[in-house]
Amino acid sequence: PMERLPKPDWIRVKAGSPTTRFYEIKDILRANKLVTVCEEASCPNIGECFGKGTATFMIMGDKCTRRCPFCDVGHGRPDPLDVNEPLNLAKTIADLKLSYVVITSVDRDDLRDGGAAHFAECISKIRELSPLTRIEILTPDFRGRMDRALEILNMAPPDVMNHNLETAPRLYKEARPGSDYEYSLNLLKRFKEQHPAVPTKSGIMVGLGETDEEVLQVMRDMRAHNVDMLTIGQYLAPSGHHLPVRRYVHPDVFKMYEEEAYKMGFAHAAVGAMVRSSYHADQQAHGVGTD
Ligand code: SF4
Ligand code: SF4
Repeated sequence: PMERLPKPDWIRVKAGSPTTRFYEIKDILRANKLVTVCEEASCPNIGECFGKGTATFMIMGDKCTRRCPFCDVGHGRPDPLDVNEPLNLAKTIADLKLSYVVITSVDRDDLRDGGAAHFAECISKIRELSPLTRIEILTPDFRGRMDRALEILNMAPPDVMNHNLETAPRLYKEARPGSDYEYSLNLLKRFKEQHPAVPTKSGIMVGLGETDEEVLQVMRDMRAHNVDMLTIGQYLAPSGHHLPVRRYVHPDVFKMYEEEAYKMGFAHAAVGAMVRSSYHADQQAHGVGTD
């Protein structure tokens, strides 16, 4: 049997106490058959995020064409795209009066545009029905289709462009098979070239076997590709079949990453054990371009 590291006491795995707003949101989501990462991943921040009117939606189904061994999303042959999803999603966001939404998806290597047009369609519909809602997209890498994907996103740019590097390049083979570190960095850089006013954002998990120096190097690489905002959180293995947690990063070390991030020039850094890519996303977006 695999040895497991004991969980230190700064790891909080349970969500805070739910509010009325939380139940209201859950009911509407269920009624509209929409999938949130918040619920699927049993995110410990769900009470806080739903309470503030923030949620992360997963579009284009729940079967990924890749198999990252840290990730709990199912894989296999994806379902055909649901053409009603953009409108359905936009209506739900309007019903819920959400102020900040993150739209993410599985990788769709089966689609000729990697799913870019579906993202753009969702953004357009949300803008139509909820013009004040801020939209962050957390995209796949659009491997082999970057030009096309960027061109499509030009028609309906988001308020924040997020694409996660997930881990240090040395660990890609093990943790992100089928993905490429440079390719992901270039996606962020090229998006920023085309939309200088739209903040770009990226994140990694720690605890997969990376060193602190590797974490800092990833951060430098992000800045070298003009990434504005950073998230770093602790990796927690979803099950014994996933990659094991190789270390629990101490809060003092997270503090060090955060300080270094601001020295490097990130406009915002959300860094801490329970930070997720979309945690406090509403506040992060505010920090850029407004000061
Ligand atoms: Fe949802 Fe992200 Fe908040 Fe977790 S941190 S509840 S995934 S919006
Ligand atoms: Fe999970 Fe994304 Fe990897 Fe697919 S590409 S397995 S959704 S981390």
